[in-house]
Amino acid sequence: MRIVQIEPMIVEVPLRKPVTGVHGVTSVQSSVLVHVVADDGVDGWGDVDPTPGYTLESVDDIHAGVERLSGALVGLDPRNTHRALARMDETLPGAFEAKAAIEMALLDLKGRALGVPVHSLLGGRLIDEIQLNAWIGAVPPAQAAHEAADWLARGFTTAKIKVSGAGEIGLERVAAVRAAVGGRMALRVDFNESLTPDQAVPFIHALESYDLTLVEQPVARDRIDALAEIRRKIRIPLMADESVTSPASLIEIIRREAADIVKVKAMKQGGLLRTRSMVECAAAAGLRVVIGHGFGLTLSTLAEATLAATASARASIPTRSPGTAGRRKRWSKGAPAEPGRPERMGGLGGARSPPISKARRRCRRPRR
Ligand SMILES: [Mg+2]
Repeated sequence: MRIVQIEPMIVEVPLRKPVTGVHGVTSVQSSVLVHVVADDGVDGWGDVDPTPGYTLESVDDIHAGVERLSGALVGLDPRNTHRALARMDETLPGAFEAKAAIEMALLDLKGRALGVPVHSLLGGRLIDEIQLNAWIGAVPPAQAAHEAADWLARGFTTAKIKVSGAGEIGLERVAAVRAAVGGRMALRVDFNESLTPDQAVPFIHALESYDLTLVEQPVARDRIDALAEIRRKIRIPLMADESVTSPASLIEIIRREAADIVKVKAMKQGGLLRTRSMVECAAAAGLRVVIGHGFGLTLSTLAEATLAATASARASIPTRSPGTAGRRKRWSKGAPAEPGRPERMGGLGGARSPPISKARRRCRRPRR
């Protein structure tokens, strides 16, 4: 079997309503789909969903990366994922997003060719359910409280709150959400690099009374030294997200003891196989792991759910709300989970995307 075609395409999917993150307002999710075809007609699909500000490469960069990598991959056996990854690394350093999209398509193709699910290709699933985490943007406190109550009513028992900078409004947002949900939701705060090292410790101290499960990426991604210093001075577990890129970055975080928890994503780490290796590495070093997922299309969402399903127990962390019913994606049958079982956060730790209008999806050509 040989790869005969790799085609990237940019799709833009309008959200039903705009969302406000630390990097601004998003009303359209731009993603890159990749379609791989083998000489016997078997095909596979991959997808990555960059977030401007969080992801340093644009959809146009990723599209160009896939085009460049495709020339090096045509003719290879699509079932040899390691060979494909090595060839991509020889061809183009970095470009984790493009490599992730291609690898996802190759695994999809391989699974179709062999008649097995992708989790089998990753070694098999260990869990049948994963927990999804609600997402509350950098919105006015009253709106945040309303959204939190809405997520809770829909069955979610864990939520992330976006906080941009060290302003009073961020504290008010967290306070409003905690007041709205009481002890019924585990809450986290994600700063997306928006604090300076000097701001981080006093601001996180001010958040301590809200019983947060963790705080996420307070400072710039390249300040692993500052993460380590902040972690030593705060009492809330610290999660690194943007700082976790290559395997070397994870080693650096481990070496400096710069985080309690690391967030990994297939897009950010360059594919499912490499993300899984990093999960094992982090767990072996005693770090807890959240499989992250931002706003994404169905393909990437299911890919990261697949990844989470293969994560070992060592990579799971308890929430602050044991014994309550989470909003889960039941892996085998698609039915909701039984309430009352302990929750796991080794699963899909990122946001559940707001509903998107499938009918309004459209493709566009890359901007050169
Ligand atoms: Mg994050």
